[in-house]
Amino acid sequence: MHLKIITHDRVVFDEDVDEIYSKGVDGEFGILKGHVPFMSALDIGITKVVQSGKTKLFTTMGGVFQFKNDEGLILTQCAECGDEIDEVRARDAMERAKARLAEHSASVDAKRAEAALARAMVRLKATMNNK
Ligand code: ATP
Repeated sequence: MHLKIITHDRVVFDEDVDEIYSKGVDGEFGILKGHVPFMSALDIGITKVVQSGKTKLFTTMGGVFQFKNDEGLILTQCAECGDEIDEVRARDAMERAKARLAEHSASVDAKRAEAALARAMVRLKATMNNK
């Protein structure tokens, strides 16, 4: 089966895979060859693929997953392969978001800070697992 991960700017991944795991808004799911047609809105999370026993991790920041006729498609705002993530930048973003949330000030957009924190945390998770 095949998986394509596409953002506004680029094709992040376009290869044959044996297994796909991702995080939908209703929970995590896994897909193997022959799965019935399936569609899910994606959460901010990790998409994991297995190719000949080897695992690759991607961040997928929302969007939609579709699977039909052994073709998987992820359309997402933003996605990165684990090994292209700048760990220091993600750590800085996490600290910034945490500090904003700790302020409890009316000038802080809490939803925005929470989303930034979630993005930073999945980026860090993706880099850890790739080491
Ligand atoms: P930052 O505050 O560090 O910009 P952010 O969560 O606001 O983080 P996004 O808006 O999600 O960043 O992403 C903007 C662009 O920067 C995207 O193309 C994304 O792939 C890239 N990007 C963000 N953080 C990283 C990172 N840690 N490593 C590599 N690319 C990143």
